Amino acid sequence: MAKIEFRNVVKRFGAVEVIPDMNLVIEDGEFVALLGPSGCGKSTSLFMLAGIYRPSGGELLFDGHVVNEVEARDRNVGIVFQSYALYPHMSVRDNILFPLRFKKTPRDEALARVKAAADLVRVEELLDRRPSELSGGQQQRVALARALVKEPKLLLLDEPLSNLDASLRLSMRTEIKSLHAQLGVTTVLVTHDQIEATTMADRIICMRAGRIEQVGTPDDLYLKPSSLFVASFIGSPP
Ligand code: ADP
Ligand code: MG
Repeated sequence: MAKIEFRNVVKRFGAVEVIPDMNLVIEDGEFVALLGPSGCGKSTSLFMLAGIYRPSGGELLFDGHVVNEVEARDRNVGIVFQSYALYPHMSVRDNILFPLRFKKTPRDEALARVKAAADLVRVEELLDRRPSELSGGQQQRVALARALVKEPKLLLLDEPLSNLDASLRLSMRTEIKSLHAQLGVTTVLVTHDQIEATTMADRIICMRAGRIEQVGTPDDLYLKPSSLFVASFIGSPP
């Protein structure tokens, strides 16, 4: 598991500064949500944690070590993308196996890990299928298994429930929470849905236009919003 720190992190795309100066500590084993409207820089922040984007300035630390230059595959991070991004030409088994390709894991051990990850999210019956033969919810589970197969110390979820219908979204919320409780893995959920953030996360990082507006528990944000923006974005308690 890992403690995460953004220290004066900047991200620019060309001349456009998307993240001007991000400072944040996420404790080991925490479940946090990056919450904010579309385009505020949630995915950009998550992709820097994943090693997909490199910060333009500042330092990103895992357990006190700067990881700015550490490649994605060496970070031991699992990620679920909004679109799941499963490989259509591969079986479910090979999709889940994929993150282990750079590790010199013996085949038997790799397959045992695939089985363990598939069991965790209950897709063990689907290993021989192709993604196109799965429902949206099943594809989501496979994406989760693929994210978990390396036993990551950090789990990153980018709007993982946005493509599911309402009832499935509700049950997956509970399921992801119980996975977190079971594994204790530090988890960062990106969402624009305040209900999702308040029901799932220990702490919410509310973002607006690349900046952090407020960090706190769901109760903090409901009861003591630091700005009109947070108050209107969070809404009233359910
Ligand atoms: P969110 O996930 O909160 O919806 P993003 O992090 O995807 O927002 O995007 C934040 C801003 O950064 C947007 O204005 C977006 O257009 C821009 N952006 C994101 N990725 C890139 C990229 N690879 N190149 C250029 N601009 C980008
Ligand atoms: Mg996004």
